[in-house]
Amino acid sequence: MHTAHFAIIGAGTAGLATAILLAREGHRVTIFEQVDQLSPVGAGLLLQPAGLAVFEHLGILDQALKLGAKVIGLEGQLADKRLLVNSHYHQAEAHRFGLGIHRATLCHVLTEKLAEYSSQVTWRMSHCIEKIQEQQNEVRVLGLFKQHRFDDCFDAVLIANGARSQLRPKAWVKIDQPYPWGAAWTIVPECLSLNPEILHQFYDRAKIMMGILPTGAVPTAPQQRLSSVFWSLPTSQLQSFLKDESAKQQWLKQVSDRWPEVAEWLKQLVSKEQNQPQWLSAQYRDVVMSQFGQGRIGVIGDAAHAMSPQLGQGANMALLDAWAFSQSLQTAKKNQQIDWSILWQHYHLQRSSSTQFYQFLSRLLTPLYQSDHWWAGGLRDLIFPWMYQIPYFRKEMAITISGLKKGPLQQMSYQQIAEYQRHENRLITNNQSLPECE
Ligand SMILES: Cc1cc2nc3c(=O)[nH]c(=O)nc-3n(C[C@H](O)[C@H](O)[C@H](O)COP(=O)(O)OP(=O)(O)OC[C@H]3O[C@@H](n4cnc5c(N)ncnc54)[C@H](O)[C@@H]3O)c2cc1C
Repeated sequence: MHTAHFAIIGAGTAGLATAILLAREGHRVTIFEQVDQLSPVGAGLLLQPAGLAVFEHLGILDQALKLGAKVIGLEGQLADKRLLVNSHYHQAEAHRFGLGIHRATLCHVLTEKLAEYSSQVTWRMSHCIEKIQEQQNEVRVLGLFKQHRFDDCFDAVLIANGARSQLRPKAWVKIDQPYPWGAAWTIVPECLSLNPEILHQFYDRAKIMMGILPTGAVPTAPQQRLSSVFWSLPTSQLQSFLKDESAKQQWLKQVSDRWPEVAEWLKQLVSKEQNQPQWLSAQYRDVVMSQFGQGRIGVIGDAAHAMSPQLGQGANMALLDAWAFSQSLQTAKKNQQIDWSILWQHYHLQRSSSTQFYQFLSRLLTPLYQSDHWWAGGLRDLIFPWMYQIPYFRKEMAITISGLKKGPLQQMSYQQIAEYQRHENRLITNNQSLPECE
C-alpha cells in the first residue's frame, strides 16, 4: 500500500488528533508548529460525548478520564434562581457524559498517544508556515525557522492553525470576522460550593453571563482538582476587567446581588493575598468556508469553522474533523493510490451539514447571551422554559449539546465514531521523546 507523507500545520487539538490517526494508518506525518514548546494556555474546556467518542476511537479515553472531570449536564440559572437551561446528557442517551478538561491535559493525552508512532512522525517546532503552494502531485510548504526561510514538499497538507489562520485558501472563505464579545477567564481550585459534575452558568439579560466549569487536573499536579471561571464582556472591556480594587468590589457586588452563594466563593478567591487568580481574556472569531478541501490541501479545526464557544463545540468539532478525515482517506484509497476527489467528497458528506448546523445555531444563540440588544435576554427567557416543557425539544437540546447532530433532523452515532478496527500490522510502537506539554 502506498503511504503518503502529510504535513500538518498547527499542533492544536485538530492537528494532533489527525496526526495520530494518519500515523496509525501507516502514513508519515510532519507537524509544523510555530511555538518553541507546546504549553497550551487557555481556559478549561468541555469535551462533549461526540469528542469523547473520537477519544475512544483514538484509544485515549481512559487516560483522559483519569485527569478530566466528568460532567453530567449543564444548568443555567437566572438572577431570580429559575433554571433557564437544564440539559443533562442522559436525556440524549443513557450513560453519556461530558468531560471538563484542562488544555494542558488535552494536549498531554494527545501527544502521549502520538509518541507511540514516533518513527513515522517528524516534529518541526518553531516553524512558522507562511505560504502553501499546490503543484503537480505535491504541495510545497514555505515558512520561517529562526529567521531562516525554508521550504519542503509533501504529498498533502492539512491546515490546522486555528481561528486566525492566514493560510486557508481565500477563495473558500465566506465569513471571517471577530465576535464583538469575548470572556475574561481564570483557572482556580475546584469550586466545592456547587455540584462538581455540572457546568454551571448564570445569566441576567444578555449582558451578564458567568460560567463555572469543572476542569479536572493537570498531569503535573493530578491531586489538585480545578475549575474554570468565565465572565462574559464586550471585547473593548476585556483588558480593563478587575483592574483595581474598586472594580473588583463592583464586580463582586454584581454577582452577590444575583447569586450570593457563588459570590461568597468568589470573594474568598479574590481576597486572598497570595495566589490571586490570574484573569486572561479570550476573543472569538466567526469563520465560515464554502468548502474544507480540494486536491491535496485541506483545512480542519478552528481554521475551517471557528465559532463562539457558546455551545462548547470547537474542540469536539476539531476531533470530529480528524476522525472524518481518516475515514475519508480510507474510503479514497484505490489501487495503492489516494483519489483526492473521492476523499473530499466523502469528507464533505461527513462534515458539511454538521458544521453548518452548529455554526448556524451558534450565530443564532450567541446574541441571546452576549449582546447589547435590550430584547435578547427577554426573548430567550420566554422561549427556553417553554421548550424544556416539551420532551422532544428537551431531548433534541441534549443531543445538540452532545455534539452529535448532523443537521436539524439527523444525528451521528457515538458507537460508530468510537469504533476502531485495529489492523495490528499497521501498529508501530516505538516510544521516542516528543515535545511535552507544560
Ligand atoms: C474561552 C473559550 C472556551 C472554549 N470552550 C470550549 C469548550 O467548552 N468545548 C469545546 O469543544 N471547545 C471550546 N473552545 C474552542 C476550542 O478551544 C477550539 O475550538 C479548539 O481549541 C480548536 O483547536 P484547533 O486545533 O483547531 O486550533 P488551536 O488549538 O488554535 O491550534 C492551532 C495551532 O496552530 C499553531 N499555528 C498557528 N499559526 C501557525 C503557523 N503559521 N505555522 C505553524 N503553526 C501555527 C498555533 O500555535 C496552535 O498551536 C473554547 C474556546 C475559547 C476561546
